[in-house]
Amino acid sequence: MVALCDRCGVREAQYFKVSSGERLCLNCLFNTIEDTVTRTIRRYRLIGSGDRIGIAISGGKDSLVLMYLLGKLRRHGKIPRDAELIAFSIDEGQPYSCVRRSSAGDYIGKLASEFNIEYKLFTFKDLFGVTAFDVAQGLWGKGVNVHMCTICGVLRRRAMNIIGRRLNLSKIATGHNLDDEAQTVMLNVMSNDIKRFAWFGVTPSNDVAEEEFIPRIKPLRFVREEEVAIYAYYHGIPLMTIECPFVYNNPRFELKFTLARWERDNPNVKYSMVSFGDQLSKMINDRFKEQVKLNKCTYCGFPTSGRVCRVCELLNQAGLLEKYLRFTGKVPK
Ligand SMILES: [Zn+2]
Ligand SMILES: [Zn+2]
Repeated sequence: MVALCDRCGVREAQYFKVSSGERLCLNCLFNTIEDTVTRTIRRYRLIGSGDRIGIAISGGKDSLVLMYLLGKLRRHGKIPRDAELIAFSIDEGQPYSCVRRSSAGDYIGKLASEFNIEYKLFTFKDLFGVTAFDVAQGLWGKGVNVHMCTICGVLRRRAMNIIGRRLNLSKIATGHNLDDEAQTVMLNVMSNDIKRFAWFGVTPSNDVAEEEFIPRIKPLRFVREEEVAIYAYYHGIPLMTIECPFVYNNPRFELKFTLARWERDNPNVKYSMVSFGDQLSKMINDRFKEQVKLNKCTYCGFPTSGRVCRVCELLNQAGLLEKYLRFTGKVPK
């Protein structure tokens, strides 16, 4: 006997939504995902009329689903039709850069034209004068042990800021899903870094290290990764076929499995963690933010909580600071 969908009662159930205990057909599953994203955007006012929203495309499923959904929701008037959407990718310039591994190149172009979204490609080389690979070589050659994911991450955050200003974006949307956010909570706890919770949360917010940041929004943050993957698969959105080799000793990688184990006993554990992080964020937000005094980086002038920003610190360690400052037109000190 075929089990029918608990929502529509018509089609065959194909997905068991553990958090709600419902058996859903694919159609109803997709509807719940779209409704969750729409609700997140509306409830937290992530996208308003006249917003110029950048969509950060790594080429992975999450960012592509994000682009697809924002295009679709705008078409159906579920987000303001006059909100502009501009997608962009960043090539970090290492052999396993996300956009290079992605087989989605043609697909992104197709999606962009289908939903009338502009698409632009930037490279670390164009933005910084050096690639992530240059930085890694510089650091590792000197025995400085910095993870590739850290190098890409630090430079990518800055890159988004620069791109945001160049494209005059009011917000940048990223494809972070519920699993990513739950992992972030865990990592903040495990590194005993309560301050970072001040910048955790659903509302558009800035980053601790860079105040003049373009606010980030995460419309997928209440959708489980598995559901994003199923949505992608059945909508013809290509999945990344080559895993980045650097991911295996990234602390997030292990957490994925830990969270999956916990979820078996407590189906809502990821929601609970994200909700906990949000509440904590709310509680400490105002109090802590006042305490952060931002200075201008001695070298590049970007706002930073210390004396030297993280980008200049990394490039300095890699022996590339002078090259970078010359490239950006700042006089080396
Ligand atoms: Zn159904
Ligand atoms: Zn700097």
